[in-house]
Amino acid sequence: MLILKFGGTSVGSPDRIKKLLDIIDPSQRQIVVLSAVSGTTNSLVEISNAYLQNDKQKAADLIIALQTSYNKFIRELFSTSAGLESGQDLIDYHFGLISAFANELFTPIEEKIILAQGELISTTLYHLYLSEIGVSSKLLPALDFMKIDEDNEPVVEYIGSHLEPLLDQHPQETLFITQGFICRNSFGEIDNLRRGGSDYTASLIGAAINAEEVQIWTDIDGMHNNDPRIVKGTKPIARLSFDEAAELAYFGAKILHPQSVFPAQKYKIPVRLLNTMDPKAQGTLISHESESGKIKSIAAKDGITAIKIQSSRMLLAYGFLRRVFEIFERYKTPIDMITTSEVAVSVTIDETRYLSDILEELKSFGSVEVDPEQTIICVVGDFGADRHGFASRVFESLKHLPIRMISYGGSSYNISLLLNTTDKVEALRSLHSRLF
Ligand code: ASP
Ligand code: MG
Repeated sequence: MLILKFGGTSVGSPDRIKKLLDIIDPSQRQIVVLSAVSGTTNSLVEISNAYLQNDKQKAADLIIALQTSYNKFIRELFSTSAGLESGQDLIDYHFGLISAFANELFTPIEEKIILAQGELISTTLYHLYLSEIGVSSKLLPALDFMKIDEDNEPVVEYIGSHLEPLLDQHPQETLFITQGFICRNSFGEIDNLRRGGSDYTASLIGAAINAEEVQIWTDIDGMHNNDPRIVKGTKPIARLSFDEAAELAYFGAKILHPQSVFPAQKYKIPVRLLNTMDPKAQGTLISHESESGKIKSIAAKDGITAIKIQSSRMLLAYGFLRRVFEIFERYKTPIDMITTSEVAVSVTIDETRYLSDILEELKSFGSVEVDPEQTIICVVGDFGADRHGFASRVFESLKHLPIRMISYGGSSYNISLLLNTTDKVEALRSLHSRLF
């Protein structure tokens, strides 16, 4: 079984939806995971916010605008009156449901129901379109098998044991369609896998039913070896290991939802990143294998704050770092990078909501310095201890820029550096020209 996931832009217009059949071969047994039409989830978030603020007029205006765009969408998608009628019924049903929340108490539970409508609409529209043109397909309701637990962690075994019987009910069917992003939580309520979560859906399904391969179809030809918006001449990376891909996905290579790497890795399902606009392009294959002896990619993450704690109490002490980390833990603030010396420790965070509370508590240890507007530059590749020279090439490329922190040796496949965000563009370009 193959899992094919198409993102919001790949279903973003009637024309794009029709072209999916250039990629999908209906005779192959597969599950197609769809996102909402691009822009829809953002609009649904706005509608929910209006409801949360009890601004019913604003909610109604936003609903009409979105519904109008769908009315136009279906007129272009369907070519028969029966098809159009089925599409119209669908749109009327979902927008009726969204509008009806005006008369109810609106809580985060209702909000999640609204956010789910985008994927419910896109998948059903595609199913209806396929039946209009005589292509058989089966809709699988994600809400019947996608499940997260009390900690919002997906339950892969549950997903498998509820999805397999649905597939078994249709032994002759080859083309299954389901919603990305949406799921049920431990209370059985409608929930979701957070923004961009459709990739995660695809890899969870792949893991749960032991698929041959998960294909993530977007509009760029795989993960690039640097940020194409900043550096000219970036190239797609042919192969990445799961670890390398997770590192890059976290560091802002927006093409893949960072968490989606883990189920695929754990259950050994290869993930291929492919381009809807150029289906023949090789893309990026993420699997257990990687090419050794190579630098793969450079990525950057902005909005980082560095904190340095200097304390003579750290000298020859044990338990000091634990006490520092506990403060961050209490404020639910993840630490990204760490470097230490005998009497100081520097950490970085990207969530600054509780920064002033954290700083207040850290001051009990000694002096504390804060540098906002920092960027982490992450170079991913084969940095195993037996490789000589790669690290020095990285430093050589950055010798003209002030570096605030360096993290090397945490894993054998990356070096991370912290520098001022104002130096990011120069750093990315300089690394690119010297490393590739
Ligand atoms: N529609 C959802 C979002 O916009 C999920 C996704 O597209 O992956 O975040
Ligand atoms: Mg996405």
